[in-house]
Amino acid sequence: MESSTHSTADFGRLVWISDEKDGFVAARITDISQNGFTLVTENTNQTVTRRYEETFACEEDPNKSVEDNCALVHLNEATLLNNCRLRYANGKIYTYVANILISINPYQLIDNLYSSETIKQYRGKSLGQQEPHIFAIADKAYREMRRNKTSQSIIVSGESGAGKTESQKAVLKYLCENWGAEAGPIQQRLLETNPILEAFGNAKTLRNNNSSRFGKFVQIHFSDNGSVAGGFVSHYLLETSRVCRQATGERNYHIFYQLIAGASPDLYEKLRLAPANTFNYLKHGATMFFVNSKSPLKIDTSRVSEANSISDSIISDIDDFAKLEKALGLSGMGESEKMFIWSTVAGILHLGNIEFEENSNDSRGGCRITSETEGSLMKASELLGLEPEEMKIGLCARIMQATKGGVKGTLIRVPLKSHEASAGRDALAKAIYSKLFDWLVAQINKSIPFEKSSGYIGVLDVAGFEYFAVNSFEQFCINFCNEKLQHFFNERILKQEQEMYEAEGLNIQKIEFTDNQDCIELFEKKATGLFDLLDEEAKLPRATFQHFTQRAHESNKNHFRLDAPRKSKVKSHREMRDDEGLLIRHYAGSVCYETRYFVDKNNDQLHNSLEMLIEQSSFPLLVSLFTSEATGAVKTGGRLKAVSVGAKFKSQLSSLLDKLNNTGTHFVRCVKPNSQMKAWHFDGSAILGQLQCAGMASVLRLMQEGFPSRTSFADLYSMYEKSLPPSLARLDPRLFSKCLFRALGLDQNDFQFGNTKVFFRAGKFAEFDQMMKQDP
Ligand code: ADP
Ligand code: MG
Repeated sequence: MESSTHSTADFGRLVWISDEKDGFVAARITDISQNGFTLVTENTNQTVTRRYEETFACEEDPNKSVEDNCALVHLNEATLLNNCRLRYANGKIYTYVANILISINPYQLIDNLYSSETIKQYRGKSLGQQEPHIFAIADKAYREMRRNKTSQSIIVSGESGAGKTESQKAVLKYLCENWGAEAGPIQQRLLETNPILEAFGNAKTLRNNNSSRFGKFVQIHFSDNGSVAGGFVSHYLLETSRVCRQATGERNYHIFYQLIAGASPDLYEKLRLAPANTFNYLKHGATMFFVNSKSPLKIDTSRVSEANSISDSIISDIDDFAKLEKALGLSGMGESEKMFIWSTVAGILHLGNIEFEENSNDSRGGCRITSETEGSLMKASELLGLEPEEMKIGLCARIMQATKGGVKGTLIRVPLKSHEASAGRDALAKAIYSKLFDWLVAQINKSIPFEKSSGYIGVLDVAGFEYFAVNSFEQFCINFCNEKLQHFFNERILKQEQEMYEAEGLNIQKIEFTDNQDCIELFEKKATGLFDLLDEEAKLPRATFQHFTQRAHESNKNHFRLDAPRKSKVKSHREMRDDEGLLIRHYAGSVCYETRYFVDKNNDQLHNSLEMLIEQSSFPLLVSLFTSEATGAVKTGGRLKAVSVGAKFKSQLSSLLDKLNNTGTHFVRCVKPNSQMKAWHFDGSAILGQLQCAGMASVLRLMQEGFPSRTSFADLYSMYEKSLPPSLARLDPRLFSKCLFRALGLDQNDFQFGNTKVFFRAGKFAEFDQMMKQDP
């Protein structure tokens, strides 16, 4: 609160004070000093002191909850948190802040919340006519697409497990059920894209049993008459490291377990499958290999790793495999394509079991495949259509061009050390998997084609801002993406708001917000930006992460957003030398990145001999994954040009933002209520942190300064005409409203008349409505 305005009149007033556990707790002011308040907490009766800026104004009745937070008199993070808490305690997961929807994961299915009856209730209704709901946002997007003849996007954000993907599915369902009938099979296919994407792109993590490990933008296209025409899925940054390694307690992508669990005996035999705990790529870290099925199918226990299997009611691999098969069929994939998918997935598993040892017979210090794992090599080569001998050579050596006196000479084979060969094997597995994923998305898109589109509604589902004890290149990319989206959010929300005030002829002073453009530039600026420096480093003959880190600091000396890791005040951050890390001040807080694997992770190219190996596969489909432009490679002069992971992501993001800039936007902020995935458990402090990261504090400030509640004269008229004497009801809506306000003796500061609407200060519309109901 402002410090200048406090007096003894504040004694006894209830306010919110920050609290480590609950986020905020209510307390009464008992004394005022120069620095702040002395207060007594309401629930625990403790005397505490707080500086003025650590306290927030509280509603007169702190137990009153509202559907739209803007109906409160005091708009700040404490009243928002409290309102969400009250609603959540009543089983309500959705709350509006004006047009922004906040959704708090219930971790339990709520009866009827997404049923067909509920869908009917929201169709054609303005925001606020029904309880807050994701369907209301979907309907608003649809109506605005039709009315304004512009495409719309719904931007769903939040941390892992907050409910983004479920929200996205609900939007898809709402749109398809209302306007998909004409699309027939395409509608069905649109809905069936999810089981496919989830089987290959989702995994069990510590945060979410069904965590999407990639970002996506799903567009539903509509035809002239407003019915669903088709769709298009774009995907971003699949986490490939998971294919080879998982953290303790996490799993690899669902597909691996689904295939092992669900394959028919024939297929199981053909793919040379074995229980999950016999595969290196499935046994690292995972304490859970297999989950029991809820289905009446008899489980073949020989496929279950007994020591490690635990039952998990959430995921059921056998059922999901059956669903996946069906979904693939619906998306137009025939038996041969399915077989290709299964054998590629199994091939990756066998590839992962190949191990290397130093070869004492080789004078050049090379390695060979261990005799125990020769069998895995045979199986992998068979399933990937490769010659076993070629595969051996490809894995154990790399091809280089000899240079003599600066002149490029012949190609030579350089033997690899066993650890280098292992790294190459993993790189190959990751490359095959991510190309397979690209191909699947391309196939999905082919199955939901549209001839003519007069506009689309796109739903964006990407990971929110994140930071852990150790942060690497993955967090670096995700947080960059969130900087871009936050910038877009600020511009949109503030711009839209101010444009509306202007269009309505209201004179309101410009509202400032913290601009994060400088942080975005730190990442993407030409030459001195972090992405470019990283690409440059890779081109050096002796690239090291330390050299990159030094250059990053030197090139951005005195940049407000960048600092040395030792400046980090966060205790959980691992200690790092200045050339081992970057401390970046993001809009949502500082994050310390460990740069150790940045150069490698930015470069996901296979070395030459592996690339040549794959191109020799007898499976044309596998070869095409690596040579077709559809899967993201850029062709220059016959050969594919290597594009770094960062550069590719940067360009994908910029085209995404171009799209978003050309659409009407709707924001959904998903919140994870607790870290134990416990149903209906509201962890105030964790939720507050997420609301802050989502930029809600500045939105609330904007709303408090401006006029967040508004109604058109026409709506006001129809709302209250019945309760008024005929003399007033005869007037036109605008005049009617003016007279009404005068008659009620409303305070001039509380509202303003625009050209088509009347605007209310925060909370004042609710007051007005109350007056009308009590005193017609
Ligand atoms: P995110 O995509 O943000 O990581 P998800 O959408 O996968 O999170 O949600 C994680 C889990 O939380 C889901 O698998 C589901 O069990 C639960 N969940 C999310 N949203 C809802 C909801 N609206 N109703 C019931 N359960 C939900
Ligand atoms: Mg998700």
